[in-house]
Amino acid sequence: MELEGKIALVTGASRGLGRAIALKLGSIGARVAVNYVAVDEQNEADACDVVERLREMGTDAFMVEADVRDGEAVKRMVDEIVTRWDGLHILVNNAGITRDTLLLRMSEQAWDDVVDINLRGTFLCSKHALKPMMRGDWGRIVSISSIAGVIGNPGQANYSASKGGVIAFSKSLAREVGSRGITVNAVAPGYIETQMTGVLPENVRERFLEMIALKRPGKPEEVAELVAFLASDKASYITGEVIGIDGGM
Ligand code: NAP
Repeated sequence: MELEGKIALVTGASRGLGRAIALKLGSIGARVAVNYVAVDEQNEADACDVVERLREMGTDAFMVEADVRDGEAVKRMVDEIVTRWDGLHILVNNAGITRDTLLLRMSEQAWDDVVDINLRGTFLCSKHALKPMMRGDWGRIVSISSIAGVIGNPGQANYSASKGGVIAFSKSLAREVGSRGITVNAVAPGYIETQMTGVLPENVRERFLEMIALKRPGKPEEVAELVAFLASDKASYITGEVIGIDGGM
């Protein structure tokens, strides 16, 4: 149980990659706070299901509502975890959205929404999670970036900018907090099968598959394995890195 005694917060953990990451961290011993945003009853039910599965595994878990764009809500979320479990060691910045369109058609709202959730959310959650990590002189921040943040993607200028920002943010923060035993890394998935990619038109899907050496999309569980490694003591000398997981895209 590599993460025995560790306390983790996974943002956007109600479904997709966040769900797989929360379940993986729990399966190797971490107590997991499952963040979700109360958009509708389904989000809450999905988060509740993740918590139930974690408890069935024998690990402690609870769900915690917060919109990652909202600084007050993020602070309350971190306070709630620290009050309940007396610490926070691992933060996975996973919550993210897309609002794809070509730049000439992109509204200011589509730009702001994506940058706010993907980049500002990563900033706010990291900022508030750092204090309890510093108190324990041990911490892991793993942020889910994207291959689009490394090489760009047409129709995703907002998303690529936000995910490139996550990489630069992680590299800078790694330099700020390394002396406190805290590592900060980014993971850059390619095409992973989730609701986010489920809405892609068939021709885009086919184009992606042609570009992938392994000729298949990735599974959320495959990304979760990498995140769990980075969150563990096994990755103690890796910081400020961006690690691709894209099947050779
Ligand atoms: P997804 O299935 O759409 O899940 C996104 C998650 O983020 C949901 O749980 C969603 O909660 C949550 N979220 C959205 N806005 C939020 C907010 N304001 N506050 C808190 N949570 C919020 O997407 P996914 O594919 O699992 O993506 C997870 C992460 O991986 C994202 O950062 C994405 O950019 C990144 N990524 C995905 C791929 C891929 O191919 N799938 C590739 C590269 C990177 P609700 O259920 O409440 O909406």
